[in-house]
Amino acid sequence: MLKKIVECLPQTDCQMCGMTCADFAGFLLSGDLTTAECPVLQEPAYAEKAAALQELLASLARRAKSGHLIDVSRCNGCGICVIVCEYNLANSAACRLGKGPAADEKVALRVVNGQVVLADENLCTRLLQAADKCSKCQDHCPTQAIVLV
Ligand code: SF4
Ligand code: SF4
Ligand code: SF4
Repeated sequence: MLKKIVECLPQTDCQMCGMTCADFAGFLLSGDLTTAECPVLQEPAYAEKAAALQELLASLARRAKSGHLIDVSRCNGCGICVIVCEYNLANSAACRLGKGPAADEKVALRVVNGQVVLADENLCTRLLQAADKCSKCQDHCPTQAIVLV
């Protein structure tokens, strides 16, 4: 994600913001700086990049606490993410058998009406992992419908 943000910046490393473009991108990602603080980006020549960056940052604002950014328009409801999910596997007997979880099973991910939903973002194991965070749902999704940011 950081790389995508850098790509939307002018990449001049002019340091008018007091740092390099890569460092500035990091502060955009953390929310500590806004695009308005890059004077170069305000120039007409960079209008297209500025618009792309705004769109990218708006999508980031929609991410779940666990980091999931789900594009349901890409989801085909295959359920692969549900049965490979680290939390689901540890807590759902049905998932361990390669099936969708029962209605009364508490799970992080499930498919509802043919599309994936983050049933409970608080159950995602990423929230407890400082490093080597789980990314199985993202890694196994055949349509790139799940992005972890
Ligand atoms: S002012 Fe903008 S273009 Fe210049 S280094 Fe900072 S982020 Fe990059
Ligand atoms: S990141 Fe891991 S634990 Fe969290 S929802 Fe995805 S597969 Fe499940
Ligand atoms: S998010 Fe991906 S893996 Fe999960 S159900 Fe949708 S298409 Fe399948």
